[in-house]
Amino acid sequence: MESYLAELNDAQRAPVLQKDGAMIVIAGAGSGKTRVLTYRIAYLMSKGVDAFNILSLTFTNKAAREMKTRIAKIVGNSEAKNLWMGTFHSIFAKMLRFEADKLGYPSNFTIYDTQDSQRLISAIIKEMGLDKDVYKYKQVYSRISSYKNSLITVKAYFQNPELMEADAMSKKPRLGEIYREYVDRCFKAGAMDFDDLLLKTNELLNRFPEVLQKYQNRFRYILVDEYQDTNHSQYLIVKALSDKFQNICVVGDDAQSIYAFRGANINNILNFQKDYDNVQMYRLEQNYRSSKNIVEAANSIIEKNKTRLEKVVWTANENGPRIVVNRLLTDGEEGRFVAGSIFENRMEHQMKNGDFAILYRTNAQSRAMEDALRKKDIPYRIYGGLSFYQRKEIKDVLSYLRLVINPKDEEALKRVINYPARGIGQTTIDRLTIAANHYKRSIYEIIENLDRIDLKINRGTKTKLENFINMVKSFQIMNETADAFTIAETVAKKTGLLQELKKDGTPEGIAKIENIEELLNGIRDFVEEQKELADVTGSLTEFLEDVALATDMDKDSGDDDRVALMTIHLAKGLEFPFVYIVGMEEDLFPSAMSMSTRSELEEERRLFYVALTRAEKKAFLTYTQSRYRWGKLVDAEPSRFIEEIDDKYLDFMIPQDDYKYKPLIDTDIFGEVDKSKFRQTKPSSGTPPPSHKPTEEQLQKLRKLRPATSPGNSASAGEVIKLMAGDEVEHMRFGKGKVLSIEGAGQDKKAEIDFETGGIKKLLLKFAKLKLL
Ligand code: ATP
Ligand code: MG
Repeated sequence: MESYLAELNDAQRAPVLQKDGAMIVIAGAGSGKTRVLTYRIAYLMSKGVDAFNILSLTFTNKAAREMKTRIAKIVGNSEAKNLWMGTFHSIFAKMLRFEADKLGYPSNFTIYDTQDSQRLISAIIKEMGLDKDVYKYKQVYSRISSYKNSLITVKAYFQNPELMEADAMSKKPRLGEIYREYVDRCFKAGAMDFDDLLLKTNELLNRFPEVLQKYQNRFRYILVDEYQDTNHSQYLIVKALSDKFQNICVVGDDAQSIYAFRGANINNILNFQKDYDNVQMYRLEQNYRSSKNIVEAANSIIEKNKTRLEKVVWTANENGPRIVVNRLLTDGEEGRFVAGSIFENRMEHQMKNGDFAILYRTNAQSRAMEDALRKKDIPYRIYGGLSFYQRKEIKDVLSYLRLVINPKDEEALKRVINYPARGIGQTTIDRLTIAANHYKRSIYEIIENLDRIDLKINRGTKTKLENFINMVKSFQIMNETADAFTIAETVAKKTGLLQELKKDGTPEGIAKIENIEELLNGIRDFVEEQKELADVTGSLTEFLEDVALATDMDKDSGDDDRVALMTIHLAKGLEFPFVYIVGMEEDLFPSAMSMSTRSELEEERRLFYVALTRAEKKAFLTYTQSRYRWGKLVDAEPSRFIEEIDDKYLDFMIPQDDYKYKPLIDTDIFGEVDKSKFRQTKPSSGTPPPSHKPTEEQLQKLRKLRPATSPGNSASAGEVIKLMAGDEVEHMRFGKGKVLSIEGAGQDKKAEIDFETGGIKKLLLKFAKLKLL
């Protein structure tokens, strides 16, 4: 046996060794699904499969790079660089470049990012004279995006009365027209948006059988990670490409499906067995990532979901510390607690900054964390949010570069035609846009032909427009011989961009100049890297494509040591020794926007499962007592997800002396009034779970018996039971007792109870899980 195969357990080795056929690996978090894909590719190559014949689709390009590096180590040669490996978007953008002419696009088509698309939609809404409060451009964008991902083209839209009716019902009867105009304008600009990269790939494979065959033959072995989050468009591409050889291996976890809101379709995983012949189903059950406490706490959460596949996840790792729960007064305090805790743990356990992650539900929560980390001089990096390439000054440089490659690119042109200011006013731009729409040409082409169309543009402005065009043309000529770095540097200087920022002189202006320098350095690195690969040129087109599809995750060179901050959605597939999940509050997590149906709430719960299972050694959950939301300070309530974790996995920190506030309510979150207020941890309840692998018999039992919902003999979180003095009750931890008195009302209602064993305690009914006897 090849030595690397010994780095897999038996269950993992099976799908690795099955060379041909269709197979699906369904398994919980941290059980080695991604590792199986990696080793499987190495194994295929060692069995003589050519790297050129393997296609592997991952969730981020960073994951793809890491897998490639690992594979290169295992197979011990440079073949791995020939693997087609990356996100759906980056792989199929590459394929579309080769085939673009078949669809009527130039091979140097631009990729519009979300910002470009939204700006264009916003412009169209304005041009059509529609009310921008009814037609909110972001909403319109996501609606169009979901049509594209369901393969509903403009034509299909207008053939479907139900869709049109639905849009009319939501007071947007002209949505279809916006959709049509948007698609036309993108096409005319030689641009594809993110969704087009999938939609057009589908179109290509459907309309051109010879192209389909070519890629079917090429990609003889296909592998897909995070299959649970593929959307319909992605599903169809995979299906088409794998149809001939049916050598397809997908891995996923239904419990980690968290992109339904963006069209991910869990049925892709559930129906896999119907889609291919002789599908082999594999399950992995051992988690290698996390401590026993974390694994079991995560299991106890996901069990609350009704819609899920039965799965066993266990670990042979040590128990580890319990999950720390802390309540803070405000988000500022929350930030300080997290930063302080990172600081301490880093010292105490000799960890690196990169061993810590702070995860949140919404991007806006990062600010308080950032402030606190900065004060403590802890380096951090925020993933997501506004990426480097979307900063204004960077986007300005990139827009010039995009014009060099594709002068029809309307969004790029509109951005820089008068920046830095060169006296071309909005009226002129509007006239050009109208003419461009009228003649079905790009704005650039209209300017090139100004002498032939009378647009009532005066001589002076005409000259300015011509100068602009001539400048772009001079860059284009340069692009025929020079590399991307040389052109970018020339653009930054000759367009006056750097000059403009220097003139500005403010610290912000200087920071922007530094950013442009960073961009230029990045381009230089790119060019040098590409030159090493001999067969590619380091051209501007390639650089721009990389940039358009880059996520912040991809930019991470991993060479500097920083705490990672990101939304839970972005954290999928990653792992960190210490994980802080902040903002564990009702209406924030679960989000107020995702609680109206069971399926939405279950998606939020899966999101929490994803968050918790990122942690290797220790997890922290924090929540605040009040938080600014939509500009108002509102009372916050702890998330129901905290309640849903079995007590025995939790360790409550309660307000200590050095906190600068008195708790608002005189109880801890489980409603217990604790006289020994300043103890650090809750006393242990129940014995820790067994540390050995369960026997086969136990596993069988677990598989059969695992209930889909928790047994509910006690009041659940938030449910205030009606109690009176004299009632006999039972508490999970304190046993039986008699109610002495009741005070407060509604959410603050408390009961004083005399417990047979625990003595007299005052409990906040909202949290006390009491059973009326
Ligand atoms: P997720 O569901 O979060 O994507 P996953 O199932 O893809 O998780 P991996 O990321 O492949 O899991 O593995 C989790 C961790 O366990 C990784 O650090 C991996 O290297 C390690 N691991 C997996 N299998 C083994 C093994 N057989 N021996 C040692 N370590 C392993
Ligand atoms: Mg994985």
